[in-house]
Amino acid sequence: MLNKILDLLFPENLVCHLCGNEAVVNERGICSGCEKEVRVCPELPLIPHVDGISAGLIYDELTGPCLHRFKYNNGKYLTSFFISYMKVPDKKIDVIVPVPLHKNRQRQRGYNQSELLAKKIAERENIRFDPHIIARTRDTGTQTKLSHKQREKNVKGAFSVLSNVKGLDIVLIDDVITTGSTLSECAKVLKKAGAGKVYALCACARGN
Ligand SMILES: [Zn+2]
Repeated sequence: MLNKILDLLFPENLVCHLCGNEAVVNERGICSGCEKEVRVCPELPLIPHVDGISAGLIYDELTGPCLHRFKYNNGKYLTSFFISYMKVPDKKIDVIVPVPLHKNRQRQRGYNQSELLAKKIAERENIRFDPHIIARTRDTGTQTKLSHKQREKNVKGAFSVLSNVKGLDIVLIDDVITTGSTLSECAKVLKKAGAGKVYALCACARGN
């Protein structure tokens, strides 16, 4: 009986998403120390073809490992944590669209982390979610070692719009923004296909 009460008061397996310590965690799943240390992303500079851009958190030594787990180690349970920091722009929005992975990459990895974020945000905001509007038709490989200019070149022509977007105001969702080349290229092809406003919203932003 006492053990049951103790279990209720101090539940086990409550591990902070960020520091990994067993701790009392808040509704986001992080401990009070991490809540104080985690850096919310300030306003970001605009990138070409995008009408507004924001990110939830700064990518650093605290959030980086968590984002890595989310992307590569089946860390789907971290979706709620990341979206708790992601705010959609206070504008008319018709559809929420994830930045797609190339189909080979998605098969390898099993899921697209940006799609998880987009779906859950769409549910929360009661906005249409559509992961089939844009496809990555060329595998752009990993971009981590590329410069800004190289990234721009690498993603050029890598995306195709698959359905009618005429007049639609869109929020594009990605896990991390580095130089913004990918989001910018997606926004470019969406606008070329007739989309209205295109906003970008990411879980984390990292410096170049
Ligand atoms: Zn913590």
